[in-house]
Amino acid sequence: MLGAGPRVNEKSTLTVLDRVQEVKRQVEVACLKANRAVDEVTILAASKTRSVEHIQAVKDCGITDFGENYLQDATPKIQELSDCNFRWHFIGRIQSNKTKLIAEHFDWVQTVDRISIAERLSRARMQSSRSDKPLNVCIQVNIDREHQKGGVMPDALMDLVSGIRDVPGLDLRGLMAIPRAPAQGEGTGTRPAFRSLSDLFKLVADEQLTNWDTLSMGMSMDFKEAIEEGSTMIRLGTSLFGPR
Ligand SMILES: *Cc1c(COP(=O)(O)O)cnc(C)c1O
Repeated sequence: MLGAGPRVNEKSTLTVLDRVQEVKRQVEVACLKANRAVDEVTILAASKTRSVEHIQAVKDCGITDFGENYLQDATPKIQELSDCNFRWHFIGRIQSNKTKLIAEHFDWVQTVDRISIAERLSRARMQSSRSDKPLNVCIQVNIDREHQKGGVMPDALMDLVSGIRDVPGLDLRGLMAIPRAPAQGEGTGTRPAFRSLSDLFKLVADEQLTNWDTLSMGMSMDFKEAIEEGSTMIRLGTSLFGPR
């Protein structure tokens, strides 16, 4: 534990604007390196546990996509910030008894990993006040086949795509994954997982889905590698908001 004395932490003196500008600079460098256009990559702010004021500060730096993991925490923030025209993404584990509220409050759900959840979201969206606009959906893939983690296993992905692609009220946009955290000093890090997910993304692209355009991968620790492997959406918490 730190004592009562002044805390010397260089990072805590950074403003939100400093952080967002630094992230944008790094995104530019990664895009340049990968020979990609900067506007191919959307920065999503993972705003779990962050206050409305903190979210507004990030918004003032030009970020318009926000991701939340816990429905109960998210809905008051979504309501309070309803004038901002954000795109809200649900990026947490989906409990089936929460699908109705998720489909009502969010624009995107990135963690769909089974057909029963997709069907519940579909019904809820169609019965909601937002039935005129489909709910954007990404399939979460358990790319490192970890027992405790959500996501469809890679071998079962194609069947799930076939099951979801024509479900009414949903627009299947792409794939999302949270790779296994590499051990300290592990050479290749998450890059092989990103490459596998990117390969799956291209495989599904051959199926000619209407709006298949989103590869959601990369977090604060590894977004540069993710961009080099083809990510179109990086989900950043600490690098934008600071340490939790
Ligand atoms: C919290 C979270 C992130 C962001 O994590 P950081 O390491 O803080 O950038 C991204 N994706 C998901 C699903 C998260 O829950």
